[in-house]
Amino acid sequence: MFHSARIKLTTWYSLIIMLISVIFSLVIYAIVTTELERSLRRAEIRFRGAELNIPASRQRLWHPENMSPLLVADLESAKQRVVLNLLVVNGAILIISAGAGYFLAGKTLKPIETAMEEQKRFVADASHELRTPLTALKTSIEVALRAKKMSVKEAKSILASSLDDIGGLESLANNLLGLTQYQQENSALTFEPTKISQVVQGVFKKILPLAKQKDIEIKLNVPDQVLSASQRSLAEMMFIFLDNAVKYTPQGGQITVTTKTDKKNLVIEVVDTGVGIPQEAIPHIFDRFYRVDQSRSKDKVAGFGLGLSLAKKIIELHRGSVEVNSILGKGTTFRIKLPLKHS
Ligand code: ADP
Repeated sequence: MFHSARIKLTTWYSLIIMLISVIFSLVIYAIVTTELERSLRRAEIRFRGAELNIPASRQRLWHPENMSPLLVADLESAKQRVVLNLLVVNGAILIISAGAGYFLAGKTLKPIETAMEEQKRFVADASHELRTPLTALKTSIEVALRAKKMSVKEAKSILASSLDDIGGLESLANNLLGLTQYQQENSALTFEPTKISQVVQGVFKKILPLAKQKDIEIKLNVPDQVLSASQRSLAEMMFIFLDNAVKYTPQGGQITVTTKTDKKNLVIEVVDTGVGIPQEAIPHIFDRFYRVDQSRSKDKVAGFGLGLSLAKKIIELHRGSVEVNSILGKGTTFRIKLPLKHS
């Protein structure tokens, strides 16, 4: 599809350039032949006038009726040579413009091709992730329907597990929606003066019940600092890091959130005493749908591998950066740097 589009674009580029080139050639031909004819006439008048002893002052008023046949033949062959030269030049322009057009068309189409590939992969990955919980849901409902007798307890347990699957699907849909929104929002994030302590406190309140369930202590070391940011997106990003810290920290662990400023940036550190991330997995954790060691997290910890890619997108939209340090079995530190101001 992209190859034929490239050929079509090349043809259009070449056609436009050739049209301009042909128009210029016609103008050049008209100018050159007129000038040539005029110069030859003037030369003829001068020579024949001299032969006939006509004074130079009167030569300008003397117009011989016909040019000599020799000069006419010279003029014709000169015109032919001009046409030939213009044809060669136009041929060269056609070859150069076709080559340059093909190259430019490739350059123009490349980002569109990459974006479309990305979109296709996204849809394929999303459909794949949707299918797993949907199949589980369908199977449990089919099993329940086939059962001849069922106690209220059994029915409730099936309903509860179905509700869990629906919850998972809902969170997947929200994450997918978030990702596509941020993809489109590239230039539309509205930055406002945002108190980081307020954002962290808000997220902390939402996370606390989950942390309490696992007896995890969360320490906040977040002074009142103001940065220019999208408050809603920042809260979403902090939720992802804290939610992960809780998810991947075993019972009785500890999480610390610290913020400080370094020259032009606000530095947020989320440190946990969790399971850690293997070194070879670190470069991939921000990829969409990537989950470290499937057997370790999948089935045991809910998630679709979308949280960190969403967080990274938010950081990028704030023109910030994120670093990860992790020791397997000891814990993980995420260090997020966000510019304090946006010009
Ligand atoms: P999800 O948590 O839904 O699997 P994420 O994109 O948020 O997806 O994270 C990707 C992977 O990175 C997770 O599957 C997990 O293995 C790993 N990870 C993220 N945060 C932590 C953390 N604080 N400690 C250990 N592993 C983590």
